[in-house]
Amino acid sequence: MYHRLRHLIGWMTIAAALTAADADAASAVVGVRAGEQAEATRFVMDLSDSVDFEIFLLDNPYRVVVDFPVLDWRVPGTPGLKRGLIDGFRFGLFDQATSRLVLDVNRPVEVRRSFILPPSGALPFRFVIDLAEVAQDRFQRVAALPTQQAGPVQLIEPRTRPATPRVGPRVIVLDPGHGGIDPGTIGRRGSQEKALTLQIASQAREALEATGRYRVLLTREDDVFVRLRDRVAFARRHNADLFISLHADALSDRSVRGASVYTLSEKASDQEADALAQRENKADLIAGVDLENEPSEIATILIDLARRETMNLSATFATLVLPEFERAGKTLRKGHRFAGFAVLKAPDVPSVLIELGYLSNPADERQLTDRTFQKVIGASIQKAVDSYFSGLSQ
Ligand SMILES: [Zn+2]
Repeated sequence: MYHRLRHLIGWMTIAAALTAADADAASAVVGVRAGEQAEATRFVMDLSDSVDFEIFLLDNPYRVVVDFPVLDWRVPGTPGLKRGLIDGFRFGLFDQATSRLVLDVNRPVEVRRSFILPPSGALPFRFVIDLAEVAQDRFQRVAALPTQQAGPVQLIEPRTRPATPRVGPRVIVLDPGHGGIDPGTIGRRGSQEKALTLQIASQAREALEATGRYRVLLTREDDVFVRLRDRVAFARRHNADLFISLHADALSDRSVRGASVYTLSEKASDQEADALAQRENKADLIAGVDLENEPSEIATILIDLARRETMNLSATFATLVLPEFERAGKTLRKGHRFAGFAVLKAPDVPSVLIELGYLSNPADERQLTDRTFQKVIGASIQKAVDSYFSGLSQ
């Protein structure tokens, strides 16, 4: 496919340029590199077509973000890239119409030049960006700072719960962690958190739907990036009765394994839980999204009375999941813990975050990527959901 494409490029230069904006599925990144020049660090992406792009800067940490139409990633291997001002880069889907490149830079920078070069000799189309160091204040004038973007604080109206038993199936929202440009944790054998959380969510949905008692929705159906606050908003919009976020972690200590279940708390139960919440909350940062308004919103929510009932219900569900996992032969870590996860902040939807295990541990990685065991985890979640709702109706 790619060879044919290369062969055709010479003939189709003009046509390709015209159709680039249509996010043609054939458009692809076929190479990537960086180099230091006298006054700039140059980053180059080889492309199968000429494409449009849009650049912006982000602060804290310093990043250069470039949005393209959807591009296939056909770069062999996974090139690490640390050169001059560039510490590394990430590339992936940001939404259904956008592929995003994020360059991590180690100093405040400006974009000296950026352009698309036409093919020449053996070289295909190239996206080129030259970055040069600038003073902090100059960077900040250009960068889209969170403080400048922050709008008025949004007050969340708690939904009123019906006093009478509800009609129709309960709504369960499953939230596969990470996605698209944000792979989450990467395992020793290369498994990606974003892939296995989606697989396990799909297994849980299948088990839940088979009971005929639930309407099950996923915050993402494929490998696409979803902001943390959009995951919360999705659950509220669909009047979810329960929100279950699925994740996996990694630690430098390879011997650590097992699942833990977290619910929201302003104060983390321990340092490790706090560090984990900070890692998970970085998902938006990885994709180059700013965490606007979050602190004020949390403060508003936490004093709300509806919040307390929701927190109790979340805790109830958390204590039901763990024994189901244990019965299914899943190792447990530290049981039910608390931390400030951004994704658990709906004031009126009982929400838990399950860390299914550690991709740094070979046994956990094997289990979490095994189809049969994924099904077992899905069934455990379904059983916990069953006990939770049968407890509520008594
Ligand atoms: Zn995660």
